[in-house]
Amino acid sequence: MFHLIRAGISGGKTVPEQVAENPLVFATVTAPSFGTVHTRRNGRRCHPTSRGRCEHGEPRSCHAMHAEDDPQLGQPLCGDCYDYASHVVWQWWAPDLWRRFTIALRRLFAHALGVPATRLGEVATVQYAKVAEYQLRGAIHFHALVRLDGPKTAGGFEPAPDGLDADQLALLIREAAASVRLTVPGVDVDDPARVLAFGRQLDARAVRTDRRTDDPDRTLSPEQVAAYLAKYATKSADDTGATDTAHHARIRATVRALDDRAKRAGHDGYELLSKWSHMLGFRGHFATKSRRYSITLGTIRRSRRRAQALLAQAKEDGTPVDLAALEADLLADDDDETTLVLGRWEFVGAGWHTDGERTLALAAAARAREYAREKAQQNKAKTQHNSGGRS
Ligand SMILES: [Zn+2]
Ligand SMILES: [Zn+2]
Repeated sequence: MFHLIRAGISGGKTVPEQVAENPLVFATVTAPSFGTVHTRRNGRRCHPTSRGRCEHGEPRSCHAMHAEDDPQLGQPLCGDCYDYASHVVWQWWAPDLWRRFTIALRRLFAHALGVPATRLGEVATVQYAKVAEYQLRGAIHFHALVRLDGPKTAGGFEPAPDGLDADQLALLIREAAASVRLTVPGVDVDDPARVLAFGRQLDARAVRTDRRTDDPDRTLSPEQVAAYLAKYATKSADDTGATDTAHHARIRATVRALDDRAKRAGHDGYELLSKWSHMLGFRGHFATKSRRYSITLGTIRRSRRRAQALLAQAKEDGTPVDLAALEADLLADDDDETTLVLGRWEFVGAGWHTDGERTLALAAAARAREYAREKAQQNKAKTQHNSGGRS
């Protein structure tokens, strides 16, 4: 994953190195607030300014300076004030909200480049790699690398058009994230339709590959970004952080309750919601990328398998293998996967792994056919015998 992300930032592994010249932005979009939760604020107190108690008798303020491993972090100050239903509904629709965001982004880029959105592909394409990560409060947020490439071609990775640098790109990304809205139905007639948006806490900053920048606060190095994204993408997909808290249990219970209500009401849009209760209602992929962001993870895995086979071969023959020289060859043979999905599950192929397995399977199939034929003949004989007996 690190190599895949790294190649999309500065080239390598068959991705042309000039891709590093194209404007690149690292963006984080979050979920909105569904209620006040305990937080860490860089040496400041949790929620010192609110006063009094809520209608459930819980204090509205918290003067603690929570430690990094404080189990209270991410837990609501009052569970009854926390809007669990909206949390679950937002999480359920988050993949659609993201899609809406990428559409808004393309529109803004097209406008900035002076072309109609429908003809953006003639001058530029938007490539991205994104990962979803659970925050302590059980809401996911997205980290994404967004890169502006040149016109759509079979090979991809074209030089970016003039007129948009990474800082302008970052501005447009922030604008798109702040403006995107998605209206979704309630789970039943008693549940209101909701207008979903991303949280106000959003970040988009240029990634510099040339290191000539003087502003380290607003920029990130490719290594920082790749390491950061790879870390989250390779967490297992059902790792929702601290899953044993009362807050997480209540989110899961809300998922099941809303699923029940949607089923009873026969409302569309919430099918299989309860299937995702262990994911706190998030049904999206944990790592995805556009087709021409970089090479695919499958390609890297295949090349690694082939390299291992070559190493074994070389060991047997007693000849050295030049892996660096082989890399280009190994990576050249690329199937066009369009989406990268990470988690515990991986489709490694159909059919038989080895010739031995294949032989066994063919033999088993032949035996099964033979058995079926024998059975059929026996049945036929029986039928003939029976009908013979009746006549
Ligand atoms: Zn607190
Ligand atoms: Zn309350």
